[in-house]
Amino acid sequence: LQTLEGACSSAQPSGSSKPRKPSFNFSWSEEVQAKLCSVFQLSKFRPLQQAAINLSMSGKDLFLVMPTGRGKSLCYQLPALCSKGFTLVIAPLVSLMEDQLMYLKSVNVPAVTLNASSTKEDSKQVLAGMIDKNSPFKLLYVTPEKIAKSKLLMSKLEKAYNMDLLARIAVDEVHCCSQWGHDFRPDYKLLGILKRQFPKVPLVGLTATATSNVLKDCQKILCVQEPITLTAPFNRPNLYYEVRFKDNEDCVEQISQLIRERYKNQSGIVYVFSQKDAEAVATDLQKRNILAQPYHANMEPSDKSLVHQRWSSKKIQVVVATVAFGMGIDKADVRFVIHHTISKSIENYYQESGRAGRDDGSADCIVFFGFADIFRVSTMVVMENTGQQKLQNMVAYCQNVDRCRRAMMAIHFDEVWNDDECNQMCDVCRHDYITMDITKHARDVVTIVEMASSMDEKLTPLKVCDAWLGKGPAKHRKTIKVTSLSRLEVESIIIHLLLHGYFSEDFSFTPYTTHFYLKLGRKAALLKKDNHSITMKMRRRVMSHATVKIRECKTKLDFLSV
Ligand code: ADP
Ligand code: MG
Ligand code: ZN
Repeated sequence: LQTLEGACSSAQPSGSSKPRKPSFNFSWSEEVQAKLCSVFQLSKFRPLQQAAINLSMSGKDLFLVMPTGRGKSLCYQLPALCSKGFTLVIAPLVSLMEDQLMYLKSVNVPAVTLNASSTKEDSKQVLAGMIDKNSPFKLLYVTPEKIAKSKLLMSKLEKAYNMDLLARIAVDEVHCCSQWGHDFRPDYKLLGILKRQFPKVPLVGLTATATSNVLKDCQKILCVQEPITLTAPFNRPNLYYEVRFKDNEDCVEQISQLIRERYKNQSGIVYVFSQKDAEAVATDLQKRNILAQPYHANMEPSDKSLVHQRWSSKKIQVVVATVAFGMGIDKADVRFVIHHTISKSIENYYQESGRAGRDDGSADCIVFFGFADIFRVSTMVVMENTGQQKLQNMVAYCQNVDRCRRAMMAIHFDEVWNDDECNQMCDVCRHDYITMDITKHARDVVTIVEMASSMDEKLTPLKVCDAWLGKGPAKHRKTIKVTSLSRLEVESIIIHLLLHGYFSEDFSFTPYTTHFYLKLGRKAALLKKDNHSITMKMRRRVMSHATVKIRECKTKLDFLSV
């Protein structure tokens, strides 16, 4: 085992020891190396691939965490080719499986699938092949539903197991097991049956993003005793991370300017909140002479693949997409991923933005952080147990001005982090910030919400802004202290108070929508104390033109110096 783990640490060489080429002399090493070249036509392994393959070949259970596009599939495909029998692969989407089967066919690796659309005849052949000593295929791809629902499949697996033909189990997108992950799928929860029935078969779980908590959860759900976890460095040094405050009127204009100028002739993705937004933003970009097309779950499958194809072959420059545009996309030269609306969690953001720069060339990941969007996303995830907490983490990522964006993500994913590794490749590392006392402002705005609730009135965040800015209904204007801050500043403070528990969310359901209101949070009462103060960090030189103009007029903007 030591040598095996030696293989793992070779991916992250320690500073002091001189670099030495790890030499592997396992009984399978020669065959693995030979097939890497002859079958997969690859010249060398990428970091962690060899370690993962050696661990799996030696019968260990394994979790492999590696950013999307780095080559996780090889870590079970190559062992499958070098083992007796076949490898069972569980994957969440039929389209993903079909892509892999197509690829495997092109390199002459026999592989088959069993899914809802398999014909009777195909299924029969596959089921027979599973217990054929000559193994007509090396990989069998199934959906988790199939495992959960088909007793026939389970019975054949059992037979194959007893004949020593079930070589390995690979669970792709393994984070789908856990409700804490970003893409929970109920059928994955039932996959524990595999390890319980076939305890001697090594299992490998693969994912691009999973915190250690999610992995622990997956381990429990899959009933693996002591898996070894290999985590590839999650940092993507070639990506530049940036957050811009979103001004609804001018957001699409800013995006189109970026696409026409900075990203001229380069491919990218614009992620949006909803299907409607996908259509609308795509149309807006088209009007500005950008070759853009929408992509969302409600389109015909043939239209979806057409958009994907046009984009892959550079016939269009931009896909304006909902999160439905995700799994299975492996275009290497994506130069920008722009979020027109924030993601619902940092996991999602890492995954979505991570589609940029897979060729290791530099690429930009820009989020437009809008006040109203927070509440749109919040009501969308209202049914998810951990939805609000995850969204708050995403909002904190955007609101943050003093911690390197990479450090924020590293902390979130439980990664060890060294601040030098960013290399000024995020906006925070390139900007200054200032710390301001906002206690007086906080008291004013908290009072507005308090007054409203004493009159049995619920206020949406937008109404709170308006009231505070003196734009609300006249009846309120007499009683509240109107602020001289700009709208962006007002929004920023409200977000800060929400993130820190001075406000909290108050949902209300109608048959058609969910409303988000602000109510006093657990810490609001502290503001009644004279000695309680709140500070907030703000970026320098980030406010809108309007704010800058106010500053130039020297109106009393006391806390945002340029
Ligand atoms: P993941 O599942 O991690 O997102 P894939 O397994 O789909 O990634 O692989 C992504 C791409 O990387 C594929 O085109 C694959 O052929 C390529 N690839 C995998 N391993 C290597 C390697 N060692 N050298 C070069 N390319 C590789
Ligand atoms: Mg994959
Ligand atoms: Zn940074």
